[in-house]
Amino acid sequence: MAFLRKLFGGGQQASNDAGLYLFVKCNNCGAPVRVRVNPSSELAADYGDTEAEGYTLTKEIMDDRCFRVMRAQLAFDKNRRETGRTIEGGTFITAEEYDALKAPQP
Ligand SMILES: [Zn+2]
Repeated sequence: MAFLRKLFGGGQQASNDAGLYLFVKCNNCGAPVRVRVNPSSELAADYGDTEAEGYTLTKEIMDDRCFRVMRAQLAFDKNRRETGRTIEGGTFITAEEYDALKAPQP
């Protein structure tokens, strides 16, 4: 994922990385995709009367095989803990499933 490293600057892993990783699989071609989210800058606040009651994140994800866009939406409570997620055009998978799909096929 060279372009992601470019996007986030130099590829240096901060030791206190607060990044959230989403692992998804394209429903069209089955390609696995890993995408990093920065909770401190990418969450949009849902404001109640006086303060943020929660956060939402909309992330457009494109795989590198068929280049179809998947749209993930995540919901967070006011402590930025995830409360739910949905995705159009793809399926959420685990990191283990991602690694298995990414491994060279025999
Ligand atoms: Zn695809």
